[in-house]
Amino acid sequence: MLACVLHGKEDVRLERIPVPKQQAGELLVRVDAALTCGTDLKVYLRGYHERMISPPAVFGHEFAGEVVASDNGRFPIGTRIVAANSAPCWDCYFCALDKPNLCTDLLFVNGAYAEYIRVPARIVDENCLILPADLPASKAALVEPLACAVKGIEDVAVNEGEKVLVIGAGPLGLMLARLSVLAGAEVTSVDDQVDRLVVARELGVASTVTGRLTPELVEQLRAEYTPHKLGFDCVIEAVGKPETWNQAVELVRPAGRVNLFGGCEKGTELRVDTTRLHYDEIRIYASFHHTPETVRKALELIATSEVPAFSLVREGRSLLDLPNVLQEMRAGSTPPKTAIFPQLPSGTRLEAEELERFL
Ligand SMILES: [Zn+2]
Ligand SMILES: [Zn+2]
Repeated sequence: MLACVLHGKEDVRLERIPVPKQQAGELLVRVDAALTCGTDLKVYLRGYHERMISPPAVFGHEFAGEVVASDNGRFPIGTRIVAANSAPCWDCYFCALDKPNLCTDLLFVNGAYAEYIRVPARIVDENCLILPADLPASKAALVEPLACAVKGIEDVAVNEGEKVLVIGAGPLGLMLARLSVLAGAEVTSVDDQVDRLVVARELGVASTVTGRLTPELVEQLRAEYTPHKLGFDCVIEAVGKPETWNQAVELVRPAGRVNLFGGCEKGTELRVDTTRLHYDEIRIYASFHHTPETVRKALELIATSEVPAFSLVREGRSLLDLPNVLQEMRAGSTPPKTAIFPQLPSGTRLEAEELERFL
């Protein structure tokens, strides 16, 4: 089969490799669509992922497709499915605490940038879902990142009528903004790229602010968008930089909540004004990953179009063009998400309206 193999730092190669063999309890799935993700870009730029990928390895983790080999009665051959990229063990300390996202034995699957992917038995049992007949794979593949966003919004319990600021309008920032809109909040999105904020508007965000978050812009946001210039009820950081983590804390009102959602580089630190934290009773959350429950909610939100997937997945490209797509992502010139189709000829570029056809 054709697969995109990561060999090291910025070294991906399209190769013919054997189709994985389905073992007991596993599913072999034909990938109908995979989605690009910032994590994959990071993996490509670094050449590895500490917990998940050591080269040479197939990578890519957001996908949907059709079962082509199975011994599982719930997912017979021909079933269209989406699977999350991990599953918890339900056996460790954190699983027992009902924090399966912190499972000490999270089992990951990678290899979505290929014609076929083997889904491990535990993921089949815990985090594999059947697609509604009319849901294209290119939409369904959004389940995994959306499940993380669903958890993020649940953790800070966004309420109706609240003023929510989402810092960053990358794919996750956009999903977090959309979920806040669905919760009835009045959402402001800030990002330095205008085209991303156009998508935020499409998703129902009330105000968009273009620019880099300088101290002046922080002041302006507080002054112009929050009552009595006190700050937002809830601030969600979806950038993943210590500077913006700090600014998120600065922008919340007393007794407000912050979700430091964007993961920062290892070893970086957050400095918080203790007076503000204590006397203003600020609540700081930081959400990581997803749970089987939020994976299920995510599929529902996509199936009902409450989260309109094609506002985020705006183009379709061939698996053969993935190395170029990764370079374009690096240059920052791609839409929030690109659907990668193994069966599409090289050089093709599908617009959002055409994606529907690729079930
Ligand atoms: Zn992802
Ligand atoms: Zn566990």
